[in-house]
Amino acid sequence: MAMHFPNLPQRVAEIRARLEAASSRGGHGQTVRLVAVTKTHGPEAALEAWDAGVRDCGENRVQEALPKMAAVAVPVAWHLIGHLQRNKVQELEHFALLHSLDSSRLADAVCEFGLKRKLAVDALIQVNTSGEATKGGFSPEELRVEADRLVGMPGIRVVGAMTMAPLDASELVLRQTFAGARHARQVLAAAGHPATELSMGMSNDYEIAVEEGATLVRIGSALFGARDQ
Ligand SMILES: *Cc1c(COP(=O)(O)O)cnc(C)c1O
Repeated sequence: MAMHFPNLPQRVAEIRARLEAASSRGGHGQTVRLVAVTKTHGPEAALEAWDAGVRDCGENRVQEALPKMAAVAVPVAWHLIGHLQRNKVQELEHFALLHSLDSSRLADAVCEFGLKRKLAVDALIQVNTSGEATKGGFSPEELRVEADRLVGMPGIRVVGAMTMAPLDASELVLRQTFAGARHARQVLAAAGHPATELSMGMSNDYEIAVEEGATLVRIGSALFGARDQ
């Protein structure tokens, strides 16, 4: 059968090699999971990634993700990497990890869902460490308060932090943004959460993110080519 993404196995291999090299340069000693971001592409993107050895895929919109996930028969671990509306929290049952827990009100709704299904929702707290007004997530000050509040919310298991870097930022700003997320993870761990994961790095900045300690990189266009949407 013809492949939609014929270069995918080579691209996966090259990215994996770069992840490994960046990880040893950075010296944080972490292993890095590659999350293939399949948004705007059909189910074949996830299937061909699976055939190339990728086990994790990311989607940023629930409505787009649901029919696609239903069309993928292999057991991909699906990651929700975009904003989740509170009235859609029940769709978390289809995802292995929520990367984008970005407000207290969403946390309340996610916790309620986790309690109702009697299984805590694994989530990363999205932090705004670049200071951009357009970016979602908790500021470092808000995070301190929320980290303590989340300790009393057994419907959520806080397994780490996530951040998005500004587009076209200098290397210095990228490193500051990523180091800020690393610090946020430390704040979460100090509050008592099992916070070991750090989701940061996209096609244009994943090597710097891994040098700064990323354990999950979210890569779309470097795998599947430019998106036209
Ligand atoms: C689209 C998206 C990505 C992947 O972006 P690329 O630049 O194509 O690698 C990563 N994270 C989030 C939250 C996204 O929405």
